[in-house]
Amino acid sequence: MTKMASQQVSKSANQQSAALARQPNGLSEGEIAALIAAAAAVRERAYAPYSRFSVGAALRAADGRLFAGCNVENASYGLTICAERNAIAQAIAAGTRDFTAVAVVSENGVTPCGACRQVLVEFGPGMMVIVVDIRGRRRIYTLAELLLDAFGPRQLPGD
Ligand SMILES: [Zn+2]
Repeated sequence: MTKMASQQVSKSANQQSAALARQPNGLSEGEIAALIAAAAAVRERAYAPYSRFSVGAALRAADGRLFAGCNVENASYGLTICAERNAIAQAIAAGTRDFTAVAVVSENGVTPCGACRQVLVEFGPGMMVIVVDIRGRRRIYTLAELLLDAFGPRQLPGD
């Protein structure tokens, strides 16, 4: 291993331990557990016959309500919708647009894809992102960490 590669591994490990130690602002362990449970439950309803990669996402709104979504694939692959964006759509349809956290449960605890990060930042640039694998191992990020210096509504000229 080169010195540079060694440093990169070390930095990555430090970032991961920082992510593990962080707690979402104002959320109790019980509230976090409920959010993760909602994401895990909806993951069971994922429609993923092509990738066989089921994902569940649950958003916590500022008023405490939870909204869940799973991935929905399509034989026309490009029409697949991710769990995170489905959860956003559920919440918007219910009249909620302000979120404090999202939990994403998958087999190996993946982070939201780029498209979902952009959609999430539209409604909650300060939200926490809790990624969890099926063994319950979790990492916690801020959305700003996952989508640094994001483009969003504030960049559009107002009147
Ligand atoms: Zn996505």
